[in-house]
Amino acid sequence: MLAYTYIEQGKFELREKPIPEIKDSRDAIVRVTLGSICSSDLHIKHGSVPRAVSGITVGHEMVGVVEKVGADVTAVKPGDRVTVNVETFCGECFFCRRGYVNNCTDPNGGWALGCRIDGGQAEYVRVPYADRGLNHIPDTVSDEQALLVGDVLATGFWAARISEITEDDTVLIIGAGPTGICTLLCVLLKKPRRIIVCEKSPERARFVRQRYPEVLVTDPENCKEFVLRNSDHGGADVVLEVAGSEDTFRLAWDCARPNAIVTIVALYDKPQLLPLPDMYGKNLTFKTGGVDGCDCAEILNLIEEGKIDTTPLITHKFPLSEIEEAYRIFENRLDGVIKVAIEGNLIKPVFVLPHTP
Ligand SMILES: [Zn+2]
Ligand SMILES: [Zn+2]
Repeated sequence: MLAYTYIEQGKFELREKPIPEIKDSRDAIVRVTLGSICSSDLHIKHGSVPRAVSGITVGHEMVGVVEKVGADVTAVKPGDRVTVNVETFCGECFFCRRGYVNNCTDPNGGWALGCRIDGGQAEYVRVPYADRGLNHIPDTVSDEQALLVGDVLATGFWAARISEITEDDTVLIIGAGPTGICTLLCVLLKKPRRIIVCEKSPERARFVRQRYPEVLVTDPENCKEFVLRNSDHGGADVVLEVAGSEDTFRLAWDCARPNAIVTIVALYDKPQLLPLPDMYGKNLTFKTGGVDGCDCAEILNLIEEGKIDTTPLITHKFPLSEIEEAYRIFENRLDGVIKVAIEGNLIKPVFVLPHTP
């Protein structure tokens, strides 16, 4: 099968690899019908994910059809349409039992797919702990509608959930990339008084203005003044930092009112300065992290009910065989790209998969 592979820093390559096999009784093999490229894939490519293993198939955002399951898998069966969670988690350790699945203590726990083990920019993927990592896609939900559930939409949903948003709040979201817009969609469900999106790209700012007219849009240069003018208590009540650019961490706490919650969703390339003397007395609460992706079933229900729609984010679509071109467009932000979908293995192969005991 074709698998887009991390060779070395700066180099991915489409290679021929064997179809993955069940290795553990809790594994499933999923035929990938639709995948996508995430900015974290680019972080691997550029060497800023030290734990990424060279030789692995990249890609951690995908949907597909269950092809085979191990003996101990009970939640899914061959033929089921499923979303695949970016995170692998056991569901039983101290952290998993509290919903902190990103910190699952299993050796394979956390972000493993497409980083430490083979991922989904391929025709098939092996998913460990399939009962936890796979969720049924409702019949009325398309692959496109479900594509972002396991990663960027899970991230936006988690970020909105932990930010303690109330209906009186002015919420500032910094960054309107794919995760920023997913965060916006989930913040909208909380019905805060005002939402302000700060985005430096005029193209992306326009996208937000056109699609979500109830949202206020500003740019980094004018952000603080704009937030002060459009909030009731000297800054945003809640700030979600989803940009991860040079100066956006500072912007996030600077635009927050005293006692605000500042949620850092972004993955930075460099360390950030926490100038405590400058923020003394502001009494901010910072929440940081990587997604605890354990709400996928609830997210799929919201999609089925028409309350979340991420399909406008999928601006481009390529077959797996043309993934190089898809990366070129995504990486260089060409042609108004937000998300690229990679069409995987849409047609059931005629050959028979080898039997494993
Ligand atoms: Zn990702
Ligand atoms: Zn665990």
